[in-house]
Amino acid sequence: MKPTSKEPTRDTVTTINEDGSRYFIHTADVRGLFTTLRRLSGWGLILFYVALPWIPIGGHPALFLDVANRQFHIFGLSLVAQDMWLAFFLITGLGFFLFYLTSLFGRVWCGWACPQTVFLDHVFRRVERLIEGDAHARRQLDQAEWTPGKVFKRVVKHAVYLVLSLAVAHIFLSYFVSLPRLYSAMHQAPWENATLFLLVFGIGAALYFDFAWFREQFCIILCPYGRIQSALIDDHSIVIGYDEKRGEPRGKGQGAGDCVDCHRCVQVCPTGIDIRQGLQMECIGCSNCVDACDEVMTRLKRPKGLVRYDSLNGLAGRATRLVRPRTILYTVLMLVGAGVMLWAFSTFRTLGVGIVRLPGAPYYLNEGQVRNQYMVRLINKAAHARTFKIHIESPHPGLAPVGLPVSIEIPAEGEVQQLLVLMMPEKNFPGGFRFTVEAITDDGKATASKQADFLGPDPLP
Ligand code: SF4
Ligand code: SF4
Repeated sequence: MKPTSKEPTRDTVTTINEDGSRYFIHTADVRGLFTTLRRLSGWGLILFYVALPWIPIGGHPALFLDVANRQFHIFGLSLVAQDMWLAFFLITGLGFFLFYLTSLFGRVWCGWACPQTVFLDHVFRRVERLIEGDAHARRQLDQAEWTPGKVFKRVVKHAVYLVLSLAVAHIFLSYFVSLPRLYSAMHQAPWENATLFLLVFGIGAALYFDFAWFREQFCIILCPYGRIQSALIDDHSIVIGYDEKRGEPRGKGQGAGDCVDCHRCVQVCPTGIDIRQGLQMECIGCSNCVDACDEVMTRLKRPKGLVRYDSLNGLAGRATRLVRPRTILYTVLMLVGAGVMLWAFSTFRTLGVGIVRLPGAPYYLNEGQVRNQYMVRLINKAAHARTFKIHIESPHPGLAPVGLPVSIEIPAEGEVQQLLVLMMPEKNFPGGFRFTVEAITDDGKATASKQADFLGPDPLP
């Protein structure tokens, strides 16, 4: 009994026909422990993705990447463009964590938490199942003549896909555009917010293409993580595999192993592979085949676990080691990364200061005074307005600001450019030197400083 007209082999990509055209997979329904857990976690994740812009932390959405104003709010931490070097540690830290997770548990991220899998499996495939029926009915519909019934089903399905794709595009955009702005744009004519509308429709179209047609091809062809995962796992990593010793020779006759060659594991696979052919690049670790085979084994009154979560060593009857050079290396790298990240975040300040020399002459000499002019940039990263003082620290006496306000008020998450004129009697001028400009908040709790050069003529003999 073959599940489809196309038998998966190790030599070809199952989803591509011999003439190079696409072979569209219709995944059969499956029930079981992992399917239930995955559905629960999938819905929990969707709720989490949708809720992120709605949950306020410190006066901002839990996640709001305000690219237009170069401000980034991540779970209560507010960063401005100058702090983006911290994002490097955050992203590499998450990357190392994913490496670590993969070396231990294979592609658990892909099967359980990746937004592509979560939305495809728990939203779009459910809609398809509801409108067109089970895998068998969908395959028949594919091959059927165009009748009014087929046209109706296809139109309804794609209309719902379009609406859902646009909804997901709005969720995605709400991480970058504030909810009030998005809401008001939704109630205005497209040409009043042309960029936003183009973005929504561009992202919506890409999502529609992906979820309606491209599907598993994204994981097989486009996803870089899918490409490198085979370099991250080894024979001790926990993956989904087939117990060949127990299952072979497959069949139903006397002397056959436990695998009855029913192809249920192939029918439920969203990437169309046969797990009995070993661990393959296309496997996203969704665990459908585990539940499918367990169902068959239960019916046959045989022990579950012919297809199961195990290491390749475990499946071959050898010991599985969780601690090994690869996991030790990833642990060390993760700890070093976490340490550097903690240090980097400990240096984070809720105010910023920058200083640049004004264009023109580097200095002026006037009535025995050396004068340098700068522009000081003060950034208030706090969610409330604050007053700042500027303090100059010089290694040489006589350096003093001229006409500097006693205090400068900066609005919440705002910035101010302040002209700074520094003078020094020529007789005190020792030659070019560095001084420090320090910004202090009104309560004296937060400070930030920058250094700059004070220049002048050759010192007096
Ligand atoms: S579902 Fe189990 S018994 Fe059926 S073909 Fe797959 S491995 Fe064999
Ligand atoms: S082989 Fe199994 S775990 Fe891998 S993608 Fe197919 S059904 Fe999912």
